[in-house]
Amino acid sequence: MPPQGLLLIAAYLPASWPVRFVDENIAPATAADFRWADVVLVSGMHIQAPQIHDIAQRAKAAGKTTVLGGASVSGAPELYPEFDYLHIGEIGDATDRLIACLDNSVAPAPAQTRFETTERLPLPSFPLPAYDLIRLDRYLIGSLQFSSGCPYRCEFCDIPALYGRQPRLKTPEQIIAELDAMLAQPGHPSVVYFVDDNFIGNRKAAREILPHLINWQRKHGYPLQFACEATLNIAKQAEVLLLMREAQFLTVFVGIETPDADALKAMRKEHNAALPMMEAIKTLNRYGLEVTSGIILGLDTDTSDSEGRLKAFIDLSGIPILTINLLQALPRTPLWDRLKRDGRLLADDAGLESNVQFLRPYDEVVDTWRRCIAHAYDPERLFARFAHQVDATYANRMDVPARGKLTVRNLREAVVLGFNIVLWVGLLSNYRRPFWRAAWHALSRGQVDAALGMGLVAYHLIQFSREALRGEQNASFYSAPARRRAATAYTLEGAPALGKQP
Ligand code: SF4
Repeated sequence: MPPQGLLLIAAYLPASWPVRFVDENIAPATAADFRWADVVLVSGMHIQAPQIHDIAQRAKAAGKTTVLGGASVSGAPELYPEFDYLHIGEIGDATDRLIACLDNSVAPAPAQTRFETTERLPLPSFPLPAYDLIRLDRYLIGSLQFSSGCPYRCEFCDIPALYGRQPRLKTPEQIIAELDAMLAQPGHPSVVYFVDDNFIGNRKAAREILPHLINWQRKHGYPLQFACEATLNIAKQAEVLLLMREAQFLTVFVGIETPDADALKAMRKEHNAALPMMEAIKTLNRYGLEVTSGIILGLDTDTSDSEGRLKAFIDLSGIPILTINLLQALPRTPLWDRLKRDGRLLADDAGLESNVQFLRPYDEVVDTWRRCIAHAYDPERLFARFAHQVDATYANRMDVPARGKLTVRNLREAVVLGFNIVLWVGLLSNYRRPFWRAAWHALSRGQVDAALGMGLVAYHLIQFSREALRGEQNASFYSAPARRRAATAYTLEGAPALGKQP
């Protein structure tokens, strides 16, 4: 996905400042980029910490002033002593002070200077993200932000502390302008993800923005599909779900976390138990929404029965994609404070899969994670869940005219994708039988895109689980080993090699 935060900052910088936008997920910044710049502004999340440090090193080697903003530094500024300026918090008064400071001089301050936002820029004042600085056709999924913040207070989550509990909103006009800007590019991803912390954090606002999205889709021949993240109690919002179906929302990521009601209560996520979980998932499916689920293992409430309950949940829910992670304490969360008080925060350099000292033996927790991954992504089970989605979910989606999608580029991509899936999954894989069973189930109902989609996603998930079982994947995407692995993968792809040039 295009990095929304940096695109926003890029658009907010004074018009007289030339900006060169580099997304190192696409291609590394070159030595010429560093030479060209006066100041290097960086953003990233905790998982990208090694890459953030590396960019700082490359920028410093090129003699440039460095600035770091975004989610990771806002949560843990102490991790980044090497940057000249830190921008902590959201865009706001800190951004204005930073711009004034750099406008005055691009030379670094003698000691690190922190700018911390106390007054956030209201979302209606956000400029159009600088889509003109990137090529959207290089991304798999587009991103869009409608709101920021979440009213809940789940113990492990840093969103309320970072972005507030009162969701703040953009105007419908801003959202439409952003969609227009994406559509104006010759190539753009066909799926756009609302990156909002919780799409129904403000239910009234969600209800009000949806008719605008529907009108836009109708006007342009339904060129996009949407995805978002929301709390499971969205299942109680029939009107919102109906509108989401019409607007072409196809997927919703839900932090289910655990099927255990007592565990939900302990982590202050009771809102997930507002109605029976299976019923809620079925309701979302009835509106054509495929649920993707986040799951956490290593909770204080886990017992020897938790593994069995989670496996039963995976089978019964029919959810194909689940991100199963070990609990990790993030800075600025109630969980972090509690574990710190109890002396249960482990150092990053302990080499473990989590910084939490679990109540159950560490090896048992990690082994449980491996067995759950193996269960979830066993090809027979995975394709059975996809086949379930064909009738339970995909059949309930609204038929839309294809004219918005019939472009030469889209057709070419579909042919390439189809060829690769037939070759690698349908012919050469050792799970071709369950694939064809599920794919045929979809094809016989006219769901060609579902057959292709399940082949693509399953290929990735099965690869991931096989790597996990060989010990080549991490049990937490947030842990120190995961960050090191991210750094290694990044090194193998060659980016830091540029930094190491003489
Ligand atoms: S509902 Fe989601 S975004 Fe909101 S506090 Fe809980 S985990 Fe965080």
